[in-house]
Amino acid sequence: MIIKENISLADKNWFRTGGCARFYAEPTDEQEMAAAIKFARERALPIFVLGEGANILVSDDGFSGLVIRPQLGLVTFTGELVTAGAGVGMPTLIDECLAQGLSGLEEFSGIPGTVGGSVYINIHYFQFLLSNFLIAARVIHAKTAEILSVDGAWFNFGYDDSSLMRGEYYLLDATFKLKKIDPIKAAFARGRSVEIIRHRRQRYPYANTCGSFFRNFHADEVPFEINEKKICFVAYYLDKIGVKGALRVGGAVVSHQHANMLVTSDGATSDDVIQLARTMQQLVYDAYGIIPQAECQLLGFATSPLLAFASIRQ
Ligand SMILES: Cc1cc2nc3c(=O)[nH]c(=O)nc-3n(C[C@H](O)[C@H](O)[C@H](O)COP(=O)(O)OP(=O)(O)OC[C@H]3O[C@@H](n4cnc5c(N)ncnc54)[C@H](O)[C@@H]3O)c2cc1C
Repeated sequence: MIIKENISLADKNWFRTGGCARFYAEPTDEQEMAAAIKFARERALPIFVLGEGANILVSDDGFSGLVIRPQLGLVTFTGELVTAGAGVGMPTLIDECLAQGLSGLEEFSGIPGTVGGSVYINIHYFQFLLSNFLIAARVIHAKTAEILSVDGAWFNFGYDDSSLMRGEYYLLDATFKLKKIDPIKAAFARGRSVEIIRHRRQRYPYANTCGSFFRNFHADEVPFEINEKKICFVAYYLDKIGVKGALRVGGAVVSHQHANMLVTSDGATSDDVIQLARTMQQLVYDAYGIIPQAECQLLGFATSPLLAFASIRQ
C-alpha cells in the first residue's frame, strides 16, 4: 500500500470544497488497514477514516494527519445474511441484495455513502434506521490495530449515534440480517427502491451537498411547545426563518428544495459553508432560543467553527 502526501480532498467529498490531506492511504484489506494505522501511530499523526465524503465538510486548510479511505469492497451472502466491507457503496449493496432476493436495505435507496460512513452515523430515512438490520461486524482498534468481532449491541446505536463516534475503533465490515423474498416480491422491492430514489430526487438536491446539515433536536433540547407540541424537527425552525433558496454566503446557498440542505457552486469554499451555517444557527437562536447542531462531520478544524448548543427558555 502506498501512503501518498498532500492529496486534495476537494474531489473526495460531496461539497467539493476543502484543502489537502498531509498523508493519504487507500488500504484494500485489513493488513493494509493495520499498516496505515501503524504508520500514523509511529509519527503521532491523527487519523481520519473517510468514506465517500457524503457527510463531511473539510477545512480549507486541509488535514495535517493521515486520511485513510478504506477500499474494503468484499460482499458475501450466507442465507439471509449479507456481509459487506466498509468501503462498499450503500447503493451497490442495496442492488446486490435485491439481486439475491434479500429485502430490507432498499429503504435507504438514494442515500449516498459507504457501509463505513453509514454505520458510523446509523443512517436513517423516515422510521428506518440501519441499526435495525445490523447484527454483527468487525472493527479495528484505532491505535493497536487489534481486530474485534462484535454484535449489534456493541454499537450502542441511537439517532445519529454509534459507538464508532468515540473514535476508538474503525469499521472493517458489517453483517446485516435481511428478509429472503420470492422473485415477485423482489420485483416489488426493486420498484420501491426506484420510487424512493425518484421521490428523493424531486424533493432534495443531489449534488454539492452533505444532505441534512443539521441534526434534529433531542426532546430535552427544546424547552417549549408550539401549539401544545414539542417540535424536534430542525427543518421546521429553518423553514420558519425563511432561508430556503434565499440565504447565501459566497458560493454556498440554502437549497431552494430543503431548508436544511446547503449547496455549493463552483468556487465555493468550506468557509462559505461555515459562515452560512453559523448565520442559520444565529437566526434560529434569535427567533426560538435554541441552536441547531451539525449532523455533517467536520474535518481539519482546530476548534469547532460553529455555534455550540445553547438554549434559552421561551
Ligand atoms: C444528497 C444526500 C442525501 C443524504 N440523505 C441522507 C438520509 O436520507 N439519511 C441519512 O442518514 N443520511 C443522509 N445523507 C448523509 C450521508 O449519506 C450519510 O451520512 C452517509 O452514511 C455518509 O457515508 P460516507 O461513506 O460518505 O461517509 P463520510 O462522509 O466519508 O464520513 C462520515 C463519517 O463516517 C466516518 N467513517 C467513514 N467510514 C468509516 C469507517 N470505516 N469506520 C469508522 N468511521 C467511518 C467518518 O470518519 C466520518 O466521521 C445524505 C447525504 C447526501 C449527500
